[in-house]
Amino acid sequence: MKKLRTILLAMLFGFYCTGAFAQKYRNFDVAVYCRAYEVEKMGQPGWLESVWDTLSKQVHVDKIYLETHRDLLIVSDETLEFAKKFFREKGIEVGGGITYTIDESNNFETFCYSNPEHRKKVQEIAEHTAKHFDEFILDDFFFTSCKCDLCIEAKGDLSWTDYRLQLMRNAAVDLVINPAKAVNPDVDVVIKYPNWYEHFQGLGFNLEEEPALFDGLYTGTETRDRSGNQHLQQYLSYAIFRYFENLKPGENRGGWVDTGGLRYMDRYAEQLWLTLFAKAPEITLFDIRQMRYPLRENLRPEWQGIFDFDEMKKPVELEDGNTFQPVTMARAAGYSLEIVDEVLGALGNPVGVKSYKPFHSVGEDFLQNYFGMIGIPVEIVPEFPVDEPVVLLTQTASFDPDIVGKIKAQLKRGGNVVVTSGFYKAMEGKGIEDIVELRVTDRKANVKKFAAGWGPTTSIDKEILIPPINYLTNDSWEIISALDDTNGWPLLHSADYSKGKFFVWTIPDNFIDLYILPENVLNWLRETVAGNLDVQLEGPGEVSLFVYDNNSFVVHSFLDEEVTVSVLLDKTGVEITDVASGEEIEGILREAPVFRNRKMGEDITVFEVTIKPHSFRAFTF
Ligand SMILES: [Zn+2]
Repeated sequence: MKKLRTILLAMLFGFYCTGAFAQKYRNFDVAVYCRAYEVEKMGQPGWLESVWDTLSKQVHVDKIYLETHRDLLIVSDETLEFAKKFFREKGIEVGGGITYTIDESNNFETFCYSNPEHRKKVQEIAEHTAKHFDEFILDDFFFTSCKCDLCIEAKGDLSWTDYRLQLMRNAAVDLVINPAKAVNPDVDVVIKYPNWYEHFQGLGFNLEEEPALFDGLYTGTETRDRSGNQHLQQYLSYAIFRYFENLKPGENRGGWVDTGGLRYMDRYAEQLWLTLFAKAPEITLFDIRQMRYPLRENLRPEWQGIFDFDEMKKPVELEDGNTFQPVTMARAAGYSLEIVDEVLGALGNPVGVKSYKPFHSVGEDFLQNYFGMIGIPVEIVPEFPVDEPVVLLTQTASFDPDIVGKIKAQLKRGGNVVVTSGFYKAMEGKGIEDIVELRVTDRKANVKKFAAGWGPTTSIDKEILIPPINYLTNDSWEIISALDDTNGWPLLHSADYSKGKFFVWTIPDNFIDLYILPENVLNWLRETVAGNLDVQLEGPGEVSLFVYDNNSFVVHSFLDEEVTVSVLLDKTGVEITDVASGEEIEGILREAPVFRNRKMGEDITVFEVTIKPHSFRAFTF
């Protein structure tokens, strides 16, 4: 028995070790970004050989981005050419990069695009870069936060948002794209957007006009630790890539993750995995310096997920038969990517509930990501969709002056619309009462009990705060009620209009309270919003579902403990197969309820799926 165990372990060990480094990943390319500070060092004798040797033994790299400028450090022609040659001789693709910062350490100080001297410098940097590369990428900082006297003067009576949107759109054309293409007509200029998409317009990132102007987009998918200063939810690593893909289909060239804000190693892996669940064709590891950070033992989590810290640290077999003992974060990247590469080939194109976010809109910031965290697959789109069974709108959609007309058209088509309480409130007095007359009050209610449909009342340990909604009895109906003692208010509310249904979803004041809603409440919300997808989830919050168009899906848990969830398929007589292990899981038939001798809906099949902490499983059916 012991011998068998040893053989099995050896097989497992071999599985993770052989060929991983020499071979390309099957489903994506890997790029490593190099800041100007490190590119400059590449000119020093021996530095690059040593760094590359350690890096490339731990993770397969297809491409390198060499930055030409950051914080007014401009890398010389000689050093750029030396580094380019080094990588090209190794068969590595090479692209350029620019970070338009004056001083990153001074609150990310950007250039002033009202200042002629700064504009000249911006253009010179683009020209210098285009001279050396047929593709370059702008890292995160092609925006402006400048409020100097020149900017105040130039802004005039415009809002900062309107001024900067126009300023940066013109700067993209006049200072970067056109000058770069004048130097090198073959150059592709790619803009990489950071993770804070909801706030872009205020600093001049122009998602309405820039995607058409640039040759490609790139996506910052880092979510780090959600208790950190950005409070980004983990699901954003997926949702933001999908959103930008919908801005310029086929030209969102990759996702980008750094090692910042880590408290445990699985969090790093999760960011890479979610980026690739979104079907990013390339993942950029930021950056060559961070890839040299040591593998710190204090990043080992208390739980055991599919990211196995010990497995990661095992020596890797090299092509020449030698082994290499992992020492740096590059191995955490390599190991994480090997795990996800095993399943990605089985997954088709991602699908989700369309949530319309008009350009330059803001409201209930980043709420779609919280929906993703409770198992509702979301696809953020920049246009109101016209052929969807359900459209999901948050407050951000209130920026569209024609939104009421678009909602009415969707309902008249026989589709449904789910809006949040924040959306309804923002639309009060702007025609939304034409669909249903409600009042989202300024009062607050503390609730911890819930009644969903005719099911039993369920409760949670903590009180959560919601805005009470008032409605006209018998004009619209409470579907899910939130209760405090003998009083209660709608958590999910429904109104008929033409051939469709209009739902209002009361969002807790603290969005994260969505995660602790009772399972039956979450299940009802999932059914209402995402019931039309082929796959549905039942279970607690903080478990995400990723659905694809080819009978495949992924379930990922962000919980610290193992969890068992139910997966629902709206067909019968099927099994699901775990892509990584090949395990087949049989389902249980759940017959549609019968009311007055009539079946209400279709029979479905329910599968019980157990997910380890901070882990995923991919399935086909
Ligand atoms: Zn300025």
